[in-house]
Amino acid sequence: MVYLDYASTTPIRKEVLEAYEKVLHTYYANADSLHQAGRKVNMLLEQSRANIAQLFHVQPEEILYTSCASESNNYALKGFALANQNRGRHIIVSSEEHSSIRSSVEQLKEVFGFDITYLPLHEDGRVHVEDVLCALRKDTILVSVMLVNNETGCINPIKEIAEAVHAHSRAVVHSDMVQALGKMELPVSSVDMATFSAHKIYGLKGSALLYHRKNLRLLPLISAGQQEWGLRGGTSNAPTEIVLAKTIRLALEEQAQHIAHVQKINAYTREKLSAIPDIAVNSPEDAYPFILNFSCLCIGSEIMLNALDAKGICVSAQSTCNSKGKAISHVLLAMGKDELHATHAVRLSFSHLTSIEEIDYFIKSLKEIIEEYATR
Ligand code: PLP
Repeated sequence: MVYLDYASTTPIRKEVLEAYEKVLHTYYANADSLHQAGRKVNMLLEQSRANIAQLFHVQPEEILYTSCASESNNYALKGFALANQNRGRHIIVSSEEHSSIRSSVEQLKEVFGFDITYLPLHEDGRVHVEDVLCALRKDTILVSVMLVNNETGCINPIKEIAEAVHAHSRAVVHSDMVQALGKMELPVSSVDMATFSAHKIYGLKGSALLYHRKNLRLLPLISAGQQEWGLRGGTSNAPTEIVLAKTIRLALEEQAQHIAHVQKINAYTREKLSAIPDIAVNSPEDAYPFILNFSCLCIGSEIMLNALDAKGICVSAQSTCNSKGKAISHVLLAMGKDELHATHAVRLSFSHLTSIEEIDYFIKSLKEIIEEYATR
């Protein structure tokens, strides 16, 4: 199998799995139990939180453990909006966000009467600061713009956006940084909330977090016990939370090395793709190297995905969370690409594990598929 779908999820790394197994067997007590065993688990869970906070240069109480990035995004959007609606009911989001953001704001609009402004994307695949400033209103309470787009790899100027929003309003800035962790410098300290997920960085599925600046009010979305300061009730998933710090630390330690490898893979793939007629590369040159989006203009996304799959190659068309929906990329459309490009897109996503031989096999297979469909 040739796996080129690392933006969907990654294989678990050995060190994380070993640590997890050990914790799972040894520290199974409830972190809220008052006995010795429970106190020990709680201590490890809080130690992990403190280590994560240190890696992000924030405070431990600013880290909320969640089960996935989608949940973190729900907390950032619904949790924040519902707790702060007395300050205003206007929210700004970019039009390229993950479905967890888009569905959250749609629910806030439909069910709770919030007003939503969607920011346009430009040809460079980015949100521009001027558009954010134009969209700001007196009643804007929240601006959410992702750092790296999960379909194209385009990078948004989050630091500049956050500075502009903070200088001109009282609105809070959230950024979905899921695809950026372990792959580039993170402007965590510039924003008020940020979302991360472990399974995108060779960690466990069911493990994620939301960074939220101290003193921001969030409405608990799971009302139950005292866990996570009453923000998210239910018995803590202590083993996954305990190994999250190690997962993030390893990803950050190896970041420079991974970037260097993936840059070579990306450049090689781009060059090979550009030599094939009917292929249009959609990710701009300045997108980050871990994602490369292209359209094969003679074969629709779904047919292409199935044909590649038959050759043992795993790729995506758009975000995996939309894979069962209509096969048109809302991100490419928002970038100004036409319907043909948006319905014929393929997303390759690379890793430090990706080899040149895998890319050669992918290119060879792609050419065979194009030839086969051209003669039909
Ligand atoms: N945000 C972005 C940018 C993503 O790419 C994804 C996953 O594809 C998510 C959020 C959701 O992540 P999770 O699977 O942890 O809910």
